[in-house]
Amino acid sequence: MPNNNKKNGKGGFPMIGLIVIAVLFFLGMLSGNLLYKTFFSAGEEEVSYNTFLTAVSDDAIRKAEISDTQISYFLRTEEEGKEGLLYYTNRLPDVDLTGVTRTMQKNGVEFSAAPVEDGSSSFLFGWIILPLLFFAGLMLLMRIVANRSGGGGGFGGIGSIGKSKAKVYMEKETGVTFRDVAGQDEAKESLVEIIDFLHNPKKYTAIGAKLPKGALLVGSPGTGKTLLAKAVAGEAHVPFFSISGSDFVEMFVGVGASRVRDLFKEAAKVAPAIIFIDEIDAVGRSRDSKFGGNDEREQTLNQLLAEIDGFDSSNGVVILAATNRPEILDKALLRAGRFDRRIIVDRPNLEGRYQTLLVHTRKIHLAEDVDLKKIAQATAGAVGADLANLVNEAALRAVRLGRRAVSQEDLLVSFETVIAGTEKKGTVLTDIEKRIVSYHEVGHALVAAMKKHSQPVSKITIVPHTSGALGYTMQMPEEEKFLNSKEELLIELQTLLGGRAAEQVVFGIQTTGAANDIQRATELARKMVTQYGMSDKIGLMALATAQNEYLEGKTYMDCAQTTADDADNEVRALLNTCYDGAKQVLLDNRSLLDEIALYLLEKETITGDDLMAFVNADTNRLPAGEETED
Ligand code: ADP
Ligand code: ZN
Repeated sequence: MPNNNKKNGKGGFPMIGLIVIAVLFFLGMLSGNLLYKTFFSAGEEEVSYNTFLTAVSDDAIRKAEISDTQISYFLRTEEEGKEGLLYYTNRLPDVDLTGVTRTMQKNGVEFSAAPVEDGSSSFLFGWIILPLLFFAGLMLLMRIVANRSGGGGGFGGIGSIGKSKAKVYMEKETGVTFRDVAGQDEAKESLVEIIDFLHNPKKYTAIGAKLPKGALLVGSPGTGKTLLAKAVAGEAHVPFFSISGSDFVEMFVGVGASRVRDLFKEAAKVAPAIIFIDEIDAVGRSRDSKFGGNDEREQTLNQLLAEIDGFDSSNGVVILAATNRPEILDKALLRAGRFDRRIIVDRPNLEGRYQTLLVHTRKIHLAEDVDLKKIAQATAGAVGADLANLVNEAALRAVRLGRRAVSQEDLLVSFETVIAGTEKKGTVLTDIEKRIVSYHEVGHALVAAMKKHSQPVSKITIVPHTSGALGYTMQMPEEEKFLNSKEELLIELQTLLGGRAAEQVVFGIQTTGAANDIQRATELARKMVTQYGMSDKIGLMALATAQNEYLEGKTYMDCAQTTADDADNEVRALLNTCYDGAKQVLLDNRSLLDEIALYLLEKETITGDDLMAFVNADTNRLPAGEETED
């Protein structure tokens, strides 16, 4: 999810704040008196000089103050301990007050010449306190602005905004170990070396080995990337610095860069250490993106690159960064010597989910009837964070219902609320969906296996993938290949269409899951027809020209409209033929398809070897001399 929605209303507060402060200041200058009175007495009332004289002679006055221009007083009738209403009247010019003061003295009135009106208190208020308030307000404002930009704390003042310490989160000892991270064995394996290096950098420098500077953890949110990074720090017993890329986005120009500098400086001081940058795509987005530049992000990114290049990894600072969108990262970040290691943190498969549930129920009292395997089975597509949440919800439910242990029902009910009922639904498949996806993926793989006569895939999985694919079939990494024959491309087409063919053959349905396959197949078929001269009907004529030889794939048609129509028809015919071919393979091997699909349904992830074991067993069952196809 993009994280920009929290910055709405940007720029609104400072304006309002400034206005409020300006108004306060203005009021203070003009009418300190008024404010003084409003703040420090219950109210005031102007009276006539007559009224004042009457009050004196009636002995109604408790306390009076006489200035050069005014007389103000409080009445005795007010409750004890309260000042009450302040009465005031203007002094008559050139009238002697001796008689009045004498009467007041006789009556025991407390009176003084301390000026109430233009005296030091209002002076103090208008000229000292208010300006002070003004500056306090200003500071507060700056602090708020600094915070909004992710700034550090304190009344740092103008000068320190740019220098404020990064909102870096530092843990001396994370206390997290690999034991807390369930599954993710491949990721852990790749990280072991980093831990070893942090333990003992000398061992590596002695040989002259170049040390890893950083690794990129790639995976969906909640798959445990932060957890893994913390575990690396925990296992190596080194401090863990973390900062999120999205923090940089809202900053003033220059702040992000200085923050990056601070971060590396701090880490270097306590090295060996781990620096973890979450959501690095927020800063590291490709600079040549079509959405226009962002100065701040570019500066931050440049600083980050400079720091990565600049620091000497031999003293043991390792940078781990996390993203779920590696494809949008700036190439510069991925260059050798930077984040050249990529560690995939996949959604957990059945076993991984089971292990995750085990980890999170370690400290939870479970009732006898709890079957975590079943919960794991029901949660295909859920990530670690979902499962942690699920367990916690179940525990809360048990408490709510006054039980002392979590029951299977608690777990199942919270599964409904945590996973099935939310937007996560998109990634958690229902049973029937799982079956379809399973057949679909095996469809691809089986067509490829039968046509290529060799192991065509390295892995098949029905665990939904980061990219949004519900399942996927990982092709064998082929040796660098620059030439493809028409026959190979035809097999490729059939393989791509094998998924849809399986849906049709087995369930008689067509699902949206094949959209990407169809897109890719169409692109390939179009190239064969318009660029590779592989269509007999069109012949060797190139109909499409690459727009730009560096931008892959973008072509424009430069031929007559009727020829373009012919080309379209050729593409369609090619696709149809290949689809029929794929369907035929699956029909011919229907029982094999069922076997493998059910096996995949159970295991969720199978290897290419598993697949070939099925295929070979099937071939051997056939009477000698008979071929499986053709
Ligand atoms: P990410 O950084 O990939 O978004 P986190 O590392 O923040 O995910 O994971 C969030 C929480 O989910 C963790 O604190 C942990 O409780 C739980 N979690 C995620 N993956 C795992 C896992 N493999 N094993 C155990 N717990 C996990
Ligand atoms: Zn497919």
